[in-house]
Amino acid sequence: MAKQRLVLTFPHKVVEEPITYHLIKDYDLVVNILRAKISPQEEGRLMIEIEGEKNALNKGIGYLKRLGVRTQPLAQDIRWLETRCTHCTLCVPLCPTGAILVDRDKMEVSFDKDKCIACGACIPVCPYKAIEILF
Ligand code: SF4
Ligand code: SF4
Repeated sequence: MAKQRLVLTFPHKVVEEPITYHLIKDYDLVVNILRAKISPQEEGRLMIEIEGEKNALNKGIGYLKRLGVRTQPLAQDIRWLETRCTHCTLCVPLCPTGAILVDRDKMEVSFDKDKCIACGACIPVCPYKAIEILF
């Protein structure tokens, strides 16, 4: 099984296409929508986690590309601004995936983009706006 977290950007002409339905039904993929910004007559954006057999996943992504949907890794839309972080650790217990880690010996915080699901739980607690979701 393979899993990818992606941001999909699609033109208004396909905003009303049942994209996730086709990914599930035609490609046998598991689709988890993390965030969505869709309005009729405008470009839409969808942040998804998509899982399935590697071949099916590639075919599903091929289907998206044929529709004109741009795909990019979710990690590109998440930023941890290390220079702003004071390693206060306020955000660490709130992160459900362990994307924010703390080295207890050095009392240093680090961020693993690939584990982040963009839930946003860390954002309101950070006094220094050190984490950004560009979505
Ligand atoms: S957005 Fe959510 S998953 Fe990502 S680092 Fe913050 S709390 Fe963790
Ligand atoms: S809350 Fe902000 S400043 Fe504190 S550890 Fe987390 S990212 Fe760094």
